[in-house]
Amino acid sequence: MCEPTALARRISEGQSLNREEALSILNASDAETLGIVAAASDLRRQHFGNSVKVNYLVNLKSGLCPEDCTYCSQRLGSAAEILKYTWIKPEEAVRQAELGIAGGASRVCMVASGKGPTDRDVDRVSTMIHGLKGANPDVEVCACLGILREGQAEKLRDAGADAYNHNLNTSEDHYGEICTTHGFGERVETVRRAREAGLQACSGLIVGMGESPEQLVDAVFSLVDLGAESIPVNFLMPFEGTPLEGTWELDPLKCLRILAMVRMAAPDREVRMAGGREMHLRSLQPLALNVVNSLFLGDYLTSEGQSALDDLRMIRDAGFEVLGAEGRDLVAEHEERTEQVSLRRRGVGTETAPNA
Ligand code: SF4
Repeated sequence: MCEPTALARRISEGQSLNREEALSILNASDAETLGIVAAASDLRRQHFGNSVKVNYLVNLKSGLCPEDCTYCSQRLGSAAEILKYTWIKPEEAVRQAELGIAGGASRVCMVASGKGPTDRDVDRVSTMIHGLKGANPDVEVCACLGILREGQAEKLRDAGADAYNHNLNTSEDHYGEICTTHGFGERVETVRRAREAGLQACSGLIVGMGESPEQLVDAVFSLVDLGAESIPVNFLMPFEGTPLEGTWELDPLKCLRILAMVRMAAPDREVRMAGGREMHLRSLQPLALNVVNSLFLGDYLTSEGQSALDDLRMIRDAGFEVLGAEGRDLVAEHEERTEQVSLRRRGVGTETAPNA
């Protein structure tokens, strides 16, 4: 392993991480990992200071997907026990998004399962985006609806979307192992379409799906080349009832090395610790904040995450601040809201008793 501090210094001076260096980070020993995290932290602080961007997921439509992505609990024939529902109403989408915004989220990700949207679906989501942006103009909205057809990215942009998420997930030569109903090239094309329409590209990975270190490096370099401005790194949650059930390839220090490699390859891009962070980083999540500058608050699409309050405490305790909420005590605000809800439920402070 090359000396990590010297490597980070060269990167901060404009040099790009090469394949050999990327592999040496992934293949480093556990004992070398904290030194790598410290070096990656220098780059993180150079570009993002001590801020953490908080994102919030709203699941517009869940399950019932005809595609066969092996990692996904929403795939065709999945026996995973998840909520399955078709489109929620626009008012409900806005209501849910505002819960995340109150918790400090500066970006709301509106997600729907499926291969890709129909034009009618795009119109429906456009209405939601329009409603959300009208009431919360400072909040960024990212749509995640699958593979886009011509003209759809422009419609979402015109409705007020700021970004589009479509993950590459893994490398081109590993893609056939995780999905047979669509290809890597279609994913790349969607990210390009979104960028060409003027949307920020959010595109990332799922790690721990049987990919080799070389394939993981390929995937990360593809994301950098494609111009992904935010890179969510998901850690495989091997849901029961999916083909990848029982796949456990990750441990906390390995996850830190992966995140550090992504940071060194993409020093000035938003790197997010995404789904599966609680399961795989476990007690090392606060350390990962020294490498990434972004996370999802609270729950994920089909699985429960750490509670929003625990996320906010973790950010504060590790010495970071939520982007856009500088100077606010989000933990105290969250506790106060929870207390008010609890009092309302018990009928305290209402003018009439709940059963009157
Ligand atoms: S297309 Fe999306 S929702 Fe459908 S199986 Fe693949 S990842 Fe899951």
